[in-house]
Amino acid sequence: MNLAPKPVLPHKQTGGPGIYLHIPYCRQACSYCNFYFSTNLSSADALVGAICKEIRTSFEEWRGSKVETVYWGGGTPSLLHNKSMELIMCTLRENFSLCPVECTMECNPEDIEPNRLSFWKELGINRLSLGVQVLDDILLQSLNRRHTVAQTMRALDDIATAGFPFLTIDLIYGIPHMSETVLMKGLDLLGQYDIPHLSAYALTVEEKTLLWHQVHKKQVAMPNDELFRSHYQLVKLMAEKHGLAQYEISNYAKPGFEAIHNTRYWNGYPYLGFGPSAHSYLPPLRQWNIPNLHRYINMVQSEEIYWEQESLGLDTSYNEYIITRIRTTQGLDLDEISSRFGPYNAYFSGQLSVLVQKGLLARKGDRVCLTTEGEFLCDYISTELMWIDK
Ligand code: SF4
Repeated sequence: MNLAPKPVLPHKQTGGPGIYLHIPYCRQACSYCNFYFSTNLSSADALVGAICKEIRTSFEEWRGSKVETVYWGGGTPSLLHNKSMELIMCTLRENFSLCPVECTMECNPEDIEPNRLSFWKELGINRLSLGVQVLDDILLQSLNRRHTVAQTMRALDDIATAGFPFLTIDLIYGIPHMSETVLMKGLDLLGQYDIPHLSAYALTVEEKTLLWHQVHKKQVAMPNDELFRSHYQLVKLMAEKHGLAQYEISNYAKPGFEAIHNTRYWNGYPYLGFGPSAHSYLPPLRQWNIPNLHRYINMVQSEEIYWEQESLGLDTSYNEYIITRIRTTQGLDLDEISSRFGPYNAYFSGQLSVLVQKGLLARKGDRVCLTTEGEFLCDYISTELMWIDK
């Protein structure tokens, strides 16, 4: 990992909020997924109505603000009909000064068609995040993914033909029975299609998911740490070989192609979330919508309170800073810690010395970054640095 301090913000961002839209539908439940979604699309029109109403009626103080990033996430936003997407985008335009430098939509290979790509481009979407996950049909099935390798390749061909300015792919590593050869096939797509951005995640067993049950019933055995390490190293190596530098523990980009919206999260910029379970951050407030599709729709329409919020104290803000920034190559800024989180500075310095001695963190001028060994123990390091009423 290149630990030299590196500016994470590739574009100058204004103080306006980013916008996140949560579209909570999926065709089927992937075995490892613990996001909030429904496989029943019958409420889609009602949901779009509720999201539009939420856009029109909430966050009054931000109305008319300049918005530079919009992120369609989920769930699977590519399942929405064109008309529904148009309605949401029009409502956003009516309520914000929308001039998105980056407008991303998550999509799955099976939803990609040339005419839909043209429509999305016309709508202003300029960045697709394609859920490739793995280039092996048996492993895709084992994860209960719906798409096939052939659909992925066709989707990538169609996206290349449509000429989307920005494309990122998601890959998963550490899948039971996944070989390095299979992982390499996925990574080779970076060169084959000149893809400028990659998000690569280790498969994790989240509570109450199908994978969690499979592991607990011993139907599935997760790979050992050695395999995760070697997959992670292969991802880094191949990403770098294709000209993508790591800028966050799971994210790699060619220069200038770093994700602007996600970078906002890591740098503490405000963002507004619309849709069930969507989170918003309006410092010092964090707000989250009810994670229930039908209750969200009913409560928005009947003008009940459909969100909860908390005002973040200094301790929570400090902890969030640690959790998010430690994952970036930019690292923790010592000046920022002493100026913003003064009361925790002495505690932080003590913990930092121990972690530096253990070879897990390295000081780079006024910054602190993970070492190569630290990258494998990021959660442990965060916990050691966080203030948890000790
Ligand atoms: S498509 Fe994405 S959001 Fe939907 S179940 Fe699969 S991983 Fe989860």
